Order: sequence, then C-alpha cells, then structure tokens
Amino acid sequence: MTRIICTTLLVEKSPQALPLGAACVASAIKHYPGTEKECDVKLISFSREDEEIQALQSDEQKAEFIVARLLTENPQIVCMSVFVWNRTIFELCAEKLHKEGIIIIAGGPEITAHPDVFESTFDYTVSGEGELKVPRLIEKLISAGRKKLSKEEVLSCYKDASASIKDLSLLHSPYLDGTIDPTEFGGALWELARGCPFKCSYCYESKGEKTVRLFPEERIDKELELFAQKKVPQVFVLDPTYNANKERALALLKKIARVTPDTFYYFEARAEFIDRQLAKAFTKIPCALQIGLQSADENVLRKVNRPFNKKLFVKNIGILNQEGVTFGLDLIYGLPGESFASFRQGINFAVSLYPNNLEIFCLSVLPGTDLFDRAQELGLTFENTPPYNIIKTDKFSPQDKIKAEQLSRACSYFYNDGRAVPWFLTICRSLKTKPADLFQSFYDWAQKNSLDLCCCEHKIIEENQIKFLTQFYKQRQMDRYIKAATDIIRFNGAISRKTATGASEKIRLTYPPEYIDSQYSLDLDFFIKNVRPKSCEIKI
Ligand code: SF4
Repeated sequence: MTRIICTTLLVEKSPQALPLGAACVASAIKHYPGTEKECDVKLISFSREDEEIQALQSDEQKAEFIVARLLTENPQIVCMSVFVWNRTIFELCAEKLHKEGIIIIAGGPEITAHPDVFESTFDYTVSGEGELKVPRLIEKLISAGRKKLSKEEVLSCYKDASASIKDLSLLHSPYLDGTIDPTEFGGALWELARGCPFKCSYCYESKGEKTVRLFPEERIDKELELFAQKKVPQVFVLDPTYNANKERALALLKKIARVTPDTFYYFEARAEFIDRQLAKAFTKIPCALQIGLQSADENVLRKVNRPFNKKLFVKNIGILNQEGVTFGLDLIYGLPGESFASFRQGINFAVSLYPNNLEIFCLSVLPGTDLFDRAQELGLTFENTPPYNIIKTDKFSPQDKIKAEQLSRACSYFYNDGRAVPWFLTICRSLKTKPADLFQSFYDWAQKNSLDLCCCEHKIIEENQIKFLTQFYKQRQMDRYIKAATDIIRFNGAISRKTATGASEKIRLTYPPEYIDSQYSLDLDFFIKNVRPKSCEIKI
C-alpha cells in the first residue's frame, strides 16, 4: 500500500475555508481504478489560524510544524494544494519533505498560474483540475516503484486530461464518500458548477474556457440530503453564475427550502440577472447574497472586462431591498484607471444601496490572469510575491493605497461588524457627510484614541460608534441629534444581538421605542422636531 496525504494550509478558520480542492483530489485517488486498491489516502488540513501555527513567528517554523505533523502519518507521497497564502510555507515544507525521501505533487491556483516555475521545488506539478491527472500520475509512480518519472512519462499521464474536466459526472463527491465531513468545519462549500461565462481580467477564470460545466443533478440532490442528515448549519454555494440560469436557480431554491429549511445559504450572485421572481424565491430560505460591484465607474470596469450597467444594477438591487433579501457588496481598490476619488465615490454609491455588508479588497494581480499579462500596458505595479497586491497604478499612488486600506478597515469595523445598515445613511444625512468621509473621520478618531479596529464583541463596537458620533456631532455643533442618534443605534444594536443570540437585554432610551422603530427615525431632523422625548427602559 502506498500511503498518500492530500493537504493544504487554509487561509483562515471558518466554514468558508474548507479544504475542498485537496478533498476532491483525495476522493479521486480513492476511486480511480489504477490507485484505489494500491493506495491508502488521507486528507489532513491546516489553517493559518490554528493556534499552534499562529504562535510560530517565521514561515520556517510553521513549515517545520506542518512537516512534523505530516511525518507522523508516514506518507510516501504528499499532494499539496498551493494557494497565494500558503505558497511560501509549502515551498519550505517541500524542501524538508524531500530530505525524508517523500514525493511531492503540487497543484492548485498558484501552480496552475506558472507550473514551470515550481518544477525544481516540487517533484511534480499539476496545472488545472487535478482529479484525473493526479491519480494517473500516482498510478504511474507506483508502477515505476516510485522512481523519478521522465518528462515524457509525466506528459503521458496528462494526455487527454485537459486543464478542465469536461464531464463532471466522472467525479466523486468528497462529501458523499466520507473524505470530508462538513460538520467538522461548521459548514460546507457546495460546488454546483465549474467555469464561468464571464472573463473578469483579475480572475483565474479570465483565461479559462467560457463554458459552465454543471455537476449532475443526482449528485447535488444526494449532497443536499447529506447536509440535511448532518444538520449542516451553513452552506457556501460555489457557482459564480448561480442566478444566470433562472429556471435552474428557482428549481434548486425550491429543493433547498424543502430539504434543508434550517440551513443558512450564501450565494454569489450577479445583480444584472436578478428579477422579482428570483428575489422572492431567495426570501423563502435563510440566505444572503454577495454581489460583486468592484467599482462604480463604468470605464474602470470596462478595463477589467466587466461590463456594468449602473441603472440596471440600481434597479435590481432595489428589488432585493423591496423583497427583504439580505445582500452584501464587494469593492476593489487599485483597479486600472481608478483614482482615489472615484474609489471613494464607489464606497458612497455602494452604501447608498443599503448593503448588509460592504467588503473592500485590495486588487491582487494574480499570475495566470489576463490582468497579469496586461499589467504593464495598464500601468500596474504590484508585489512579485504572494499575495501580489497592487503597489501603485498610473492613477493610484502608494499613499492612495494606504488611505484606501484605512477606509476598508473603518468600513469593516464601523459598518459591517457594527451592523450599521439600519441607521448608517440616516446618520450620514444628519451630518451632511458622505459615507467615505464618515469612515475616514472614524478611522482618524480611532487612531487618536488608540482603538484597535479588529473585530470584537458587538456591544463594544456599539459603544465606540456612539462615542465617536457624539464627539463628531459636538464638533459640528449639532448636539441636538446626539440623543436620537444614540437611541437609534442602541435600539437596532440590541435587536441585532437578540436575533443573533436569542438573548434578551434591557436598554435605556430617551425617546419612545415605537417612534424609534418607525419611518420617523429615517430622518433625524423630522424625528427631533416631531417626537417628544420620554425616558424609558425597555426589554428587547
Ligand atoms: S470574478 Fe466571478 S464573474 Fe468574473 S470571471 Fe471570475 S468567477 Fe466569473
């Protein structure tokens, strides 16, 4: 028996970070006729947030830790899923594992981007999807007594196995064969399809085939049954075009509602394909949509091959709001042609649409993407090691990048973790301030007060929101709004905590709760002019 370990180092500890790629390869080795009886396969994953790994200072020490753990399994072959965030550590691991005579096969996005670069680091590199190539390579290695294969022998294993597997019904589900148990990770990543009909320049799909390959309905149904059986609390749907095929999306939402009514689903959706019927269907299950806006500037988006119709976007997001669908938006800073001013306008535009959360990312110029190939022509300067973040562009200076990062951190703390969506725009209007300006002022205030903007208990964030706004209103001689704003923040905060944890709490208010919880509270000017203060304590 050949002992094989499939492994990866996950970016974080969360249900969304699940070693699906490594699990798919492990599952494929288990079922491939040439390896199933010859191999004993195990999946072992690590996370950068594992306590033992976090406690170590250098990548060298982290690699030593991972290798020591892998060696306890006595593997002859280790298959690594290499990503932007684990590449450096896995290169060090490979060096150490070689010394033990272990064969390393590496795949994943980093390898796919430039397989030749890694040929000297790992014994064998596999670009694209690994479920056909890796088992064939292992079969060949076993029949050669694990001796080094020639280039021709390796190529013969990859023959007829293109980067993308055309027929996904050939693949086994790592959930259904027990390779991975979603309950261990607190949730599942659910692959419904591979490929994307779009070609956003910064995405790995930019150079892939423009076809979408669907997993068979039978597999999807069985996985859904398994999620129900195991009472999986949350599922992240991997299908960037989930709602592009409306009939398919509606049919699956119906099934989800019937089979797993208590599971929370996260979908990536395209705003341009949302209509009322689909929005209504999303309200029938506990779910949230994440929608890529990336920039509010049509010219910027055109440069990264992402057509954008602002009017349609606003209209369809309006439908989600009218139907009460929870959704978040994504923005990217450092895109070609984007200035700091237009990035700020992007924040203002995004927040004006009432997203539940706004995620702001730095552009990564990933090797293997169209953006990487055109970086010079587009005037992009970026880090040449992972995570390949942008350093500057023709229109975005390193100083702009620092300021964008500050806005991102302030938005994440104040708006997302601070659960500010019900009142944020009301407060901005009362202060006659744009969202991006308020985020910048909050960031400056936090710096002055040595406040660490990392996620913490919501109640603490709420107190900081109130302290900051009280000072901000005072500076602008707008003290008249302070009590009403404080009530609105406390009231909505307590409701959000009750929804999240079920725990009741008592809060003191200056105004009657029935007015705080009404349309009146959308306009603070109207509120303070028309609602009479009446101090009270209420239980939420
Ligand atoms: S970013 Fe999303 S929509 Fe664009 S190509 Fe990639 S997967 Fe497709």
